[in-house]
Amino acid sequence: MKQSMICASSNFFKKAVLGGWRESEEGLVRLESDSPDVFNVYMQWLYYRTIPVRIDEPGIRENAEYMLLAKAFALGDMLQDGSFQDAVMDAMVDKTSSEASDGQKWFPVGPVIRFIYENTLASSKARLFLVDVYTFKGRGNWLTDWATQDDLPKEFLFDIAQSLLNKRQRPEWHGLVQGSCEYHQHGASDCYKSLLDLRPKPG
Ligand SMILES: [Zn+2]
Repeated sequence: MKQSMICASSNFFKKAVLGGWRESEEGLVRLESDSPDVFNVYMQWLYYRTIPVRIDEPGIRENAEYMLLAKAFALGDMLQDGSFQDAVMDAMVDKTSSEASDGQKWFPVGPVIRFIYENTLASSKARLFLVDVYTFKGRGNWLTDWATQDDLPKEFLFDIAQSLLNKRQRPEWHGLVQGSCEYHQHGASDCYKSLLDLRPKPG
């Protein structure tokens, strides 16, 4: 990989090379924590300025690609390459808005959420994206059928609760109507109010 090409895109590498890091003497910067798959996404970005979204399979496979994109986003953070991160977000949006081979749209679930929340700051656009996906498209069973409790950090649950409260429609609240038994526990038996009516009237 040409130094100039990678340094033009990534501040991390620019500093690594200009800053005289030990690795840069050999022209080598080691990225230990990242899998080759993720780095391939970055290479493709450097050469072709594209983030391919390849997999159109439903279910688990679909989420494997969301996970790859989430890892690419985190790599972009480390490399301080904002344009790459923006392109990764566009790829996620593409995935979310296109149908898989089963004709359904598949959304990021459990492990992807955990990864993003563990590897980004509160201001991150990746978090905002997840919160919007759940606000606008989410179903309650996404939190139970497609995630374990450990996948769902308190911060994420707080974010979607707040987002839903702010964005939801406000339907008629039937429980608030006077005389409603909505919050009584008597069920089919008599309400205390009807029992009060049976009291002998004073005078
Ligand atoms: Zn009642």
